[in-house]
Amino acid sequence: MTKKSELISEGKAKSLYTTSNTNELRMVYRDDTSAFDGKKKEALLGKGEVNNRFNAFIMNYLEERGVETHFIRDLSETESIVKKLDMLPVECVVRNIATGSLCRRLGVEQGIKFDEPLFEFFLKNDDLGDPLINDNHITAFGWGTEDEINFMKQKTKEINVHLSELFDKNNLILVDYKVEYGRYEEKLLLGDEFTPDGCRIWDKTTGESLDKDRFRKDLGDVVESYQIVAHKLGIDI
Ligand code: 5GP
Repeated sequence: MTKKSELISEGKAKSLYTTSNTNELRMVYRDDTSAFDGKKKEALLGKGEVNNRFNAFIMNYLEERGVETHFIRDLSETESIVKKLDMLPVECVVRNIATGSLCRRLGVEQGIKFDEPLFEFFLKNDDLGDPLINDNHITAFGWGTEDEINFMKQKTKEINVHLSELFDKNNLILVDYKVEYGRYEEKLLLGDEFTPDGCRIWDKTTGESLDKDRFRKDLGDVVESYQIVAHKLGIDI
């Protein structure tokens, strides 16, 4: 008898289901969109499909360049099969240009371009508003080891080199992004997703935001902007 697919977690924009393989999960990209730790919510028609395709392209692109990820294959317009990871409860953010929470937190000017990308850890906790944390918090509370911290910093910056180049040659600027990692057979793999929901992308010519800031700031054309980025990158949607 085949085992039924069970919902194991429901995030703000994706749901995870079991599969017949205990090491694999089915990731479903929904149209639901949220910002400000879930305080602003809306369903945007077609976003699930764009994000599923976008993520598949980026994960394959990174795998080809030596970044190991949880992505196995896409299953349908809105679903992918991924390795089941034991996720670390931290978010890794890399910034090439100062904006967003960095400017709010530190009162620094928007638009400063960093010579060296800036790296930050945040704790994944909506109730606390995903607070900024440092390496010491991660080891002290057992959220990760020193080796895992070093790995996450190094990999996230490596991802920045590959993706900044990709975006740049398609007339786009990768301003900043968030990634997450999880344990799989004694090593860390890139997990979760890489989509315009979790990064900032600006048009190099006009400076226009083509990412979730359009939703956060009520600029409209959210899914259309994600599609523009996808088409510029040559993603088939
Ligand atoms: P900021 O700290 O400026 O709000 O975000 C920095 C970058 O990380 C942005 O590209 C933002 O989209 C992404 N990011 C930060 N926190 C989250 C989160 O909880 N969920 C998602 N999807 N992206 C996040």
